[in-house]
Amino acid sequence: MDAFAYPAIPVAASAFLAWGVRGRASNVFASSIWRGARDRPAVALTFDDGPSEGTPRILEILARHQVRATFFQCGANVERLPAVARAVAQGGHGIGNHSHTHPLFCLRTPTGIEEELRRAQETIEARTGVRPAWFRAPFGARWFGLSRAQKRLQLAGVMWTAIGYDWNLKAEGVVERLAARVSNGAILCLHDGRQLRAKPDIGVTVAAVERLVPMLLDRGYKLETVSQLLCPTI
Ligand SMILES: [Zn+2]
Repeated sequence: MDAFAYPAIPVAASAFLAWGVRGRASNVFASSIWRGARDRPAVALTFDDGPSEGTPRILEILARHQVRATFFQCGANVERLPAVARAVAQGGHGIGNHSHTHPLFCLRTPTGIEEELRRAQETIEARTGVRPAWFRAPFGARWFGLSRAQKRLQLAGVMWTAIGYDWNLKAEGVVERLAARVSNGAILCLHDGRQLRAKPDIGVTVAAVERLVPMLLDRGYKLETVSQLLCPTI
């Protein structure tokens, strides 16, 4: 064997592991959906890490344009702001599970991972009346045990077609990024909270949504919840 081939093995293995954990289409640890059908001009706006004190500002923009989105809530944030979590449900939006405390699942035990999903599921249902059908992994990271936990809780994994980096970019950068990547069936990921932070500054997200929603409507897209996008007959 060529001696130069040796270093390639661990590099390839770690690259595979990184893709398995974070890749939007990876089924290594748990299967995830990352886009809807390409035959309809419909897209799903999704928001992670809420509810937060800023969530009502996003609800107001969505209501003004009469569109629906899906909010992947953290159980601990729902406990902190139950009225905001309920307002999301009352606005007709979808609610998904984004774990209880937003941990990085890598190196966690399967029992610990299942407990995170279960606590969030129970908290969201108790406070909003909605039992989520969709799960988005914190940091988009999947790990051993997640697949079993999702199955037991009847949760389907949802990643995204494009992510806005709204915790890092300026609003115009977020809008440009998503506008360049949107297409039929796209699932777009933004954040109405910042992990478990109280009173997070989500000004960039609000400004991006303010511009993004009319832009998507102008381009002829219908804005749907994840359930409507993935199961249009429901
Ligand atoms: Zn998150």
